[in-house]
Amino acid sequence: MFMPVGTLGSVKAVSQETLEELGARILLANTYHLYLRPGVEVVRRMGGLHRFMAWKRAILTDSGGFQVFSLSELRKVTEEGVTFRSHLDGSTHFLSPERAMEIQIGLGADIIMAFDECTEYPAERERVRDSMEMTLRWAERSKRYFEQHSQYPVPGTRYPASHQPSDASRQKSRSLDYEGRSASGSRISARDDSFSEVADHRPLATDHCSTQTLFGIVQGGMDRELRRESALRTVEIGFAGYAIGGLSVGEPREMTREIVEWTLEFLPRDKPRYLMGVGTPEEIALYARMGVDMMDCVLPTRAARHGLLFTSEGRVSIKQARYAEDAGPMDPACECGVCRRYSRAYLRHLYAANELLAQTLNTVHNLHFYLETMRRVRRELSTVGKGKPMTTEDTE
Ligand SMILES: [Zn+2]
Repeated sequence: MFMPVGTLGSVKAVSQETLEELGARILLANTYHLYLRPGVEVVRRMGGLHRFMAWKRAILTDSGGFQVFSLSELRKVTEEGVTFRSHLDGSTHFLSPERAMEIQIGLGADIIMAFDECTEYPAERERVRDSMEMTLRWAERSKRYFEQHSQYPVPGTRYPASHQPSDASRQKSRSLDYEGRSASGSRISARDDSFSEVADHRPLATDHCSTQTLFGIVQGGMDRELRRESALRTVEIGFAGYAIGGLSVGEPREMTREIVEWTLEFLPRDKPRYLMGVGTPEEIALYARMGVDMMDCVLPTRAARHGLLFTSEGRVSIKQARYAEDAGPMDPACECGVCRRYSRAYLRHLYAANELLAQTLNTVHNLHFYLETMRRVRRELSTVGKGKPMTTEDTE
């Protein structure tokens, strides 16, 4: 599955209604950004992130680590955690594995991520090893804190006292597939009715899961041996799912692909495998065929706001003058609402005139293109048969 990125509890330029119509099943929200604004306490008091943003489907929050390392200034990393200054107002903050868990538990996402250090690229082998070792120690601390403090149910999904779910149904709601069904095929209905106060005028096909799960993150830079070691030791600690982090940090694309393919071999097939922050439509299809289950990327939404559209005929830069009087759709093969209704000429005009609608329409198309790409790959894989290993040769 592909997760659109909703940095501040909003996928830029599109509403939750639109995301539902596009078929997005899960969003990624950024802990770092939400922690700084509006703050975890506000979100908690508003009933958790699902209720706050009126989104009943699944949410994954990252640990905040990546943003701390890429956005904040004057950070100081110690064994205990990271001290950093906000990119907004320069105020000082501290994030540790325990604090990252506490914040994510408070936000109430369905899937939360262990606190890791994203190693910069390029880096010396010793530096990569030290960083990987610290990430492993932080993974243990994250898990320990999570197990001791994760509340059940998550904010916004409280059960009436008389309806405490049995252990069996808890287990069931942990094993939702991407369609929101349990392994046995029955719908999970684990929210309380007060949730429906928020934007419940239209029934949703799925409700978000009512428990939180914790994923571990594999690091190890571009070093195969360190990646292998990081994967094996992270699996040994034991998580509900595993992410491959520390990629798309400036390395050549071919290297990303090699490391992903290599690392996947050491991650269990029966657990979700999540590749963080990747990639182009071709890449997400390729990685899904390799065995990656989950991906997120700002590319479709960010590119859309810069007038770059992904189409079945390749990339289109809608700002170009050649589209000024082009009456055809953005992508003749696309069935999204934008392509069915608007011309390239109109989209080009909106962009050139800096109209807000340009951002919305471009984002809708790009997200549709990504989500449709994943739907196509899923259909393809289910035809091939679940569990059959696919080599990269099969994908081309
Ligand atoms: Zn379209």
